[in-house]
Amino acid sequence: MAKHNYVCFSCRTVRRADPNEFDADAEGQSPRCQHCSEPMQWAGNQAEPPKRSDRKTWARWSNISRFAACDVRGWGFPYFMKMNSLLKGGRVVKEIISENPAERTWIEIVLNAGGHELHRLLRTSPCPPEKASFNLRYATFDRVDIDNHFDPDDSKVGNYICIPSISALDDFLKKQNLTLEDFDFESAVADYPG
Ligand SMILES: [Zn+2]
Repeated sequence: MAKHNYVCFSCRTVRRADPNEFDADAEGQSPRCQHCSEPMQWAGNQAEPPKRSDRKTWARWSNISRFAACDVRGWGFPYFMKMNSLLKGGRVVKEIISENPAERTWIEIVLNAGGHELHRLLRTSPCPPEKASFNLRYATFDRVDIDNHFDPDDSKVGNYICIPSISALDDFLKKQNLTLEDFDFESAVADYPG
């Protein structure tokens, strides 16, 4: 049975809700925090919370959560880690099934840091969640080039699609049955030629 974790950002606690509580949540009655009795927010099936003493990380994730589309599947801690990386200018990728077996295709997402103000800001601190917009593209490469470590042919790399906010990104991915949790940090994907 799936485990349903709930989080109270103000108390910096996570607890597992029982199935009855989860069913009640589906009808709009969130489980309550046992410390402050405020409604808790669903935090995915796999909890990997920061240490309770790590107030800075909890505060950041709480802030991100205010701008996320809350009904997204897998809205858990890996989501926050990846969103946080995007807000700091990182890049995430997800390989999807390519219709042509001679090709491999990835979805790539980066922060849209085109504005001068945002660009300057990023040098010192992550982009505030309320200001975030993203660039997303489909990047297809020839399998033979990847296998032989040839210079990638970027003629099949699509143009960036601008996604105007965190919740719009969540919605865009959800329509493709994906969530940010499914993505990998680009640095961890050895095959990606982008
Ligand atoms: Zn609480």
